[in-house]
Amino acid sequence: MANQEDKFKKVISHAKEYGYVFQSSEIYDGLSAVYDYAQNGAELKNNIKQYWWKAMVQLHDNIVGIDSAIFMHPTVWKASGHVDAFNDPLIDNKDSKKRYRADVLIEDYCAKLENKIDKEINKAAKRFGDAFNKEEFVTTNARVLGYQEKIDTILSRMGKSLENEDLADVKSLIEELDIVCPVSGSKNWTDVKQFNLMFGTKLGASADSAMDLYLRPETAQGIFVNFLNVQKTGRMKIPFGIAQIGKAFRNEIVARQFIFRQREFEQMEMQFFVRPGTQKEWYEAWKQNRIKWHLSLGMGEDNYRFHDHDKLAHYADAAADIEFKFPFGFKELEGIHSRTDFDLSSHEKHSGKKLQYFDHEINESYVPYVVETSIGLDRMFLAVFSNSLVEEELENGSTRTVLKLPAVLAPTKAAILPLVKKDGLPDVAKEIIEDLKWDFKVIYDEKDAVGRRYRRQDANGTPFCITVDHQTLEDKTVTIRHRDTMEQKRVAIADLKSIINAEVSMKEWLKKI
Ligand code: ATP
Repeated sequence: MANQEDKFKKVISHAKEYGYVFQSSEIYDGLSAVYDYAQNGAELKNNIKQYWWKAMVQLHDNIVGIDSAIFMHPTVWKASGHVDAFNDPLIDNKDSKKRYRADVLIEDYCAKLENKIDKEINKAAKRFGDAFNKEEFVTTNARVLGYQEKIDTILSRMGKSLENEDLADVKSLIEELDIVCPVSGSKNWTDVKQFNLMFGTKLGASADSAMDLYLRPETAQGIFVNFLNVQKTGRMKIPFGIAQIGKAFRNEIVARQFIFRQREFEQMEMQFFVRPGTQKEWYEAWKQNRIKWHLSLGMGEDNYRFHDHDKLAHYADAAADIEFKFPFGFKELEGIHSRTDFDLSSHEKHSGKKLQYFDHEINESYVPYVVETSIGLDRMFLAVFSNSLVEEELENGSTRTVLKLPAVLAPTKAAILPLVKKDGLPDVAKEIIEDLKWDFKVIYDEKDAVGRRYRRQDANGTPFCITVDHQTLEDKTVTIRHRDTMEQKRVAIADLKSIINAEVSMKEWLKKI
C-alpha cells in the first residue's frame, strides 16, 4: 500500500515538474479538485482526443461527431432524470467532520478483501511455481472463495439498498462491517443522505427574470436533444452513432486522487442508435470494440478488466465499466451502457416533440434504443501517464526515469540536439526542425551535456532524440536514439521523416484494432 501511495505521489510530482498538470489557481493555494493542463499536458490530452475521434468518428462511416453547448434548457435535466436522481449517498463522520461517499466506503472495504485474495494467489503462485494454475486455485481454495463470497454479498446488498433508496440499510451495512473513518478512526457516523451533484447557475441579468440553469453533468444529453437534427441533416440510417468530446461538471462529494475525480472534467461519449430488440448485440459489440481500442495502445492486457454493474442506473438495461489499474488500484475508466429508449422517450414527453425514426426496412416508426460508450478524458490521461512512468535500473547500476508514453500520444515526437553549440551544428539542427515541424511536434535543445539532455527527454516522454554532430556536416547523417531501448543508430537526415512516422503515426497504431 505504501508503495502504491509512493508511486502515486511520484506521478503527481512528475506531472508538475515536467509541465503536464498544475493545480488550478496555484498562486492562491489552489481550488479543490480543479486542475490545469500545462504545455505538455495539453498536447498529450489533444493527442488522446484525436486518437479517440479518429477511431470512433472518422473510421466509422455511420458515426458523426458534434460539439454541443454546455448550457442547455433546464427541462433537459428534468427529462434526463438528473434533477431527481443524480445523487450520491453521503455520510459524515461526527468526530473528524469529514464527508464521505457511503458507497465508496463500502467499496473500499471490498477492495481490501480483494487485496487479501491477491495475496493468497501470490503466495500460492510462489509455492507451486510453474505448476500453479490460477484459474483452478481461485475456484477451489476455501479462503479465496470465502473472501469472494463476502464481497459478493456486501456489494449485492449495497446495490439493492441503493436501488430501493433504503439509505438506513446502507448505514447499517457500514456499521455491521465496522468501517471506521480513516481520519478519526471512529465509527461515529451520521445518517446517509442523498446529495445532488449538479452545479446550478443563473441565466439573465435581473433577479426575477433569471432562469435557473445547470452546468451539464454529462455530454450525452447534448447528443439526445440533437438526435433528429443530425439524423435528418446527415441522412443517417439506423444503426448510427453521434459522438462528442466536451466538458462536464459535477459537484463531487469527495474529490481526491488528483485528476481521477474532478469537479470540472472532460468526457468523450458516443451514443449509438439501434433498432429496439438489437441493443444486447450492440452492447456486446461496443464492449469488444472499446476494449480493443484500449489494448491498441499497448499498455498491458492485465491492466484492464470489465466490471458488470450490480446496480443499474435509472436508464440502463445493461452496463459495464472498463476498469484500469491506476496507482491506487482498479477503478472505472470508461462506462458502456445500454440506455434503452429512456432518454429519447423522456425528451419526447417533456418537449412534446416526436423523436422517432422511420425504419424503411421494416416499415415502422420507433424511438431508437441507445448503446453508449463514455470515457473520461482526464482519467484516460491519468491511465496513460501513470502507467508510462517507470524507474529503470541500468546496467551500470544507475537509474533513469522514463515516461514510456505510447509514441502516438507523446506530446513531443523528437528532440533535435546539436552535440555542441558551435561549428554550425545548431544551424543544421534548426534546419531539421524547420523540415520536421510540419509533420510532428519537435523541439530544439542545446543546453547541458548530451547525456543529460537524453535523460531530460526520457523523463518527458519524447520517443526520439536526434543528435547533430560533426559527421553530419560531412555526410548529412545524424544519430537517432530511441527512448525505450536507448539504442542509437546513424541514419540519413533524409530518412528521419519516415523513421519517426513509422512509430508515431496514428494509422500504424489504430490498424491494430
Ligand atoms: P464514478 O462511479 O467513478 O463516479 P460514474 O459512473 O459516475 O463514475 P459516468 O457517469 O459513467 O461515471 O461517466 C462516464 C465517465 O466519465 C467515467 O467512466 C469517468 O471516466 C468519467 N468521469 C465521471 N466523473 C468524473 C469526475 N468527477 N472526474 C473525472 N472523470 C469523471
